[in-house]
Amino acid sequence: MNTPTLHSALLIDGQLVGGEGVAEAILNPASGEVLCSIAEASLEQLEAAVQAAHRAFPAWSRTTPAQRAGALLAIADAVDAQAEQLAALEALNCGKPLHLARQDDLPATADVFRFFAGAVRCQQGQLAGEYVAGHTSLVRRDPVGVVASIAPWNYPLMMAAWKIAPALAAGNCLVFKPSEHTPLSILALAPALREILPAGVLNIVCGGGEGIGSSLVGHPKVRMVSLTGDIVTGQKILQSAARTLKRTHLELGGKAPVIVCDDADLEAVVQGIRTHGYYNAGQDCTAACRIYAQAGIHDRLVAELGDAVASIRFARKKDADNEIGPLISARQRDRVASFVERALGQPHIERVTGAAVHSGPGFHYQPTLLAGCRQNDEIVQREVFGPVVTVTRFDQLSQALDWANDSEYGLASSVWTQNLDKALQLANRLQYGCTWINTHFMLASEMPHGGLKRSGYGKDLSSDSLQDYSVVRHIMARHGQQLD
Ligand code: NAD
Repeated sequence: MNTPTLHSALLIDGQLVGGEGVAEAILNPASGEVLCSIAEASLEQLEAAVQAAHRAFPAWSRTTPAQRAGALLAIADAVDAQAEQLAALEALNCGKPLHLARQDDLPATADVFRFFAGAVRCQQGQLAGEYVAGHTSLVRRDPVGVVASIAPWNYPLMMAAWKIAPALAAGNCLVFKPSEHTPLSILALAPALREILPAGVLNIVCGGGEGIGSSLVGHPKVRMVSLTGDIVTGQKILQSAARTLKRTHLELGGKAPVIVCDDADLEAVVQGIRTHGYYNAGQDCTAACRIYAQAGIHDRLVAELGDAVASIRFARKKDADNEIGPLISARQRDRVASFVERALGQPHIERVTGAAVHSGPGFHYQPTLLAGCRQNDEIVQREVFGPVVTVTRFDQLSQALDWANDSEYGLASSVWTQNLDKALQLANRLQYGCTWINTHFMLASEMPHGGLKRSGYGKDLSSDSLQDYSVVRHIMARHGQQLD
């Protein structure tokens, strides 16, 4: 991989400017080395960014859907044109294998901008008409105003696209804050965004959560806050947003149950969990991490999955050989390690494979499978956000369903069986934003992604997201003199 150029300028009011706040070291988690340091926005720069978005709003909100679609299509083209560099930056800054960033993150990012370019031109809604005699009612969808968008580190550019594309399409102006760990890809795209969008429509500021993040959320001119992140961060944002009654869009954690019935295609299950339980080193809120295996398939599943997980390639010198990367930081790796340590302190939990920090450089953790787990175990209840999957045995489907739903999370789930009737009945009763049947983790830009319960309530992707980033308004006109 050629070393990509590292951009450090923020985008504020159409200008690329160096941050004037404290400098943060940006690491390569695959090696632990410092890549560069990026200066955060100062509070004055944050103020300038919010004011710029506020000034840009009247004109941008009155552009036609076709004009906004044009800008989104140009952004998608810019992502494609820079794809090689952006993939290299995602790989460097997240430690992802380069071929996966290239093949998965970049096309998905461009597709999200293209989807919203189309979706905003064909929105649907209630029919205009005379719902009160002598009065005509019509319904509009208008943008909310200045949106503060705050992203996590697991898929930096894709999460930026999920936040920026629907908000811009709906006619809002934004101040976007990437995770303090992973600002490099969006900063590299900033010069192109500056060329495409009018000044102030999209501002990009860097900084930590408690500093710049919370100041941004608390700004009185911000009308909506969109967060993808931790439940605790969501709670803090709700408290702050309550003071000025801001609209919120929260996409929080997950702990996806995977119900494997006796009649499932074992090979497909093993392949599916090997891929979708460990993809991105399990740093995925939809990761297939909490398996409930029916008694008739349980032992074969544990044995075959154990072998499959032990074969996952990581931390190899030749990047192209790797299937997963490291955890994002030493802190995250140690957090994963302590979850597993506590789990293995329980006599009933069995280590099938993994369960150790990798001894080489970087923040790698061995892909881990734990069996014999029980419903009330911490490792079954809490989000680990690492390459760790648990297996719990069940006899009756009703038991699996109860356990699957017995969770504070409600983002994603899957059911594995060759009986479609059974699959649909289980899917209907799972309390999750998404249920996959005989697969896991597949996303489509056209389909909504978002949770229930403490996983939050914002919908990303799909035309539902356009609704989240807009307000519905009723216009009613009294008729004057009756026509003949
Ligand atoms: P995090 O909550 O620590 O950080 C997310 C973002 O919030 C960062 O940009 C951070 O700087 C900012 N932030 C933190 N505290 C803040 C505050 N007080 N005010 C304003 N901003 C603040 O989460 P993370 O560690 O970056 O990401 C991991 C979490 O995100 C996991 O829990 C994961 O499940 C969740 N996640 C959810 C989805 C989803 O679609 N539901 C997708 C990806 C990640």
